[in-house]
Amino acid sequence: MSGQTRTLRLDPIGCRAHGLCAELLPELVDLDEWGYPVVDGDPVPPALVNRAKRAAAACPALALRLR
Ligand code: SF4
Repeated sequence: MSGQTRTLRLDPIGCRAHGLCAELLPELVDLDEWGYPVVDGDPVPPALVNRAKRAAAACPALALRLR
């Protein structure tokens, strides 16, 4: 289904600022000055959806989700 829009969501309480997501997906994840990721709520470009899925799956705190 090409019309589906996926966005990255961050649970700021669960996140432990490992920074892994920013390493795996630097195009969409920035780190703030404390090492916490900053994601916008924009749709994930289709070309990055697979990598976004991998970054979400790799989060040790399950704090990053692709919805
Ligand atoms: S990988 Fe998970 S715990 Fe680590 S900074 Fe990203 S969202 Fe937070």
